[in-house]
Amino acid sequence: MEMETWLNAGFGGLFGLLIGSFLNVVIYRLPKMMERQWAAELAAMSADASDSVQGSEGVVQPPPFNLMTPRSRCPSCGHEVQWFENIPVLSYLFLRGRCSACKVRISARYPLVELATGALFFFCIQRWGVTPTGIAWCGFSAALVALAFIDWDTTLLPDDITLPLLWAGLLASSLQWTDVPLQASVAGAAAGYLSLWIVYWGFKLATGKEGMGYGDFKLFAALGAWFGWQALVPIILMSSVIGAIVGICMKIFSSLREGGYVPFGPFLVGAGFTAMVFGPSTILNSVLRLFGL
Ligand SMILES: [Zn+2]
Repeated sequence: MEMETWLNAGFGGLFGLLIGSFLNVVIYRLPKMMERQWAAELAAMSADASDSVQGSEGVVQPPPFNLMTPRSRCPSCGHEVQWFENIPVLSYLFLRGRCSACKVRISARYPLVELATGALFFFCIQRWGVTPTGIAWCGFSAALVALAFIDWDTTLLPDDITLPLLWAGLLASSLQWTDVPLQASVAGAAAGYLSLWIVYWGFKLATGKEGMGYGDFKLFAALGAWFGWQALVPIILMSSVIGAIVGICMKIFSSLREGGYVPFGPFLVGAGFTAMVFGPSTILNSVLRLFGL
């Protein structure tokens, strides 16, 4: 491999570490921002309802809370994280995984998210170069990392990420940044959504339970847009296999959370990355081989 390729990939990886640092903020704050918005909408609705009785002058504006403000703080002591304590991976190592003020442990997940994003960016630039294709797959990777962790934490897959991911997949196909023909991409998005929608309602009508959420349909639709409709069956098989393995492990180590609900999004993400790295047809073959077919 040429020197320049590795140099570019190295810079891509470093950039990925920075993006990973930002994804940590997204993973932590986006669900809270959504909760705040719901609470505000609920409050506005009940204020509307009681408007006839009393005025709404008592409404207090909460301080701004978004991806930029306020600055990151230690959740334990409120120490404001300084810029030199916020360097991906290095700061974690330098601080030995503890808050500089109160010495409480910082979750190892922060540097892991950064390293994973860095590795994915390294891979994308190494394979596709600093091209629209390479950059598109970097964006795809960043979105999937955020979705996997948010879904794992909160069982939510925010529309703010799944829908742009879907549009980006269609756009990348139409600009020929991915090698999926536009028709296959559009069909993949539609069939991805519809198929899980049907499974959802079939399951709900049969058992009265909800097996997954609408976010799963949108994420699957997005994967259909990025890989084409032909990839849908391999991806769903792959994610079911990953999900079953993780589910069994969690049962063995009895770490299933209350209600035993395991979100499906992280497994879709796992299958999405497998498809990105090895290609959808390879994963279908390996799944079939797994079952001796
Ligand atoms: Zn602290």
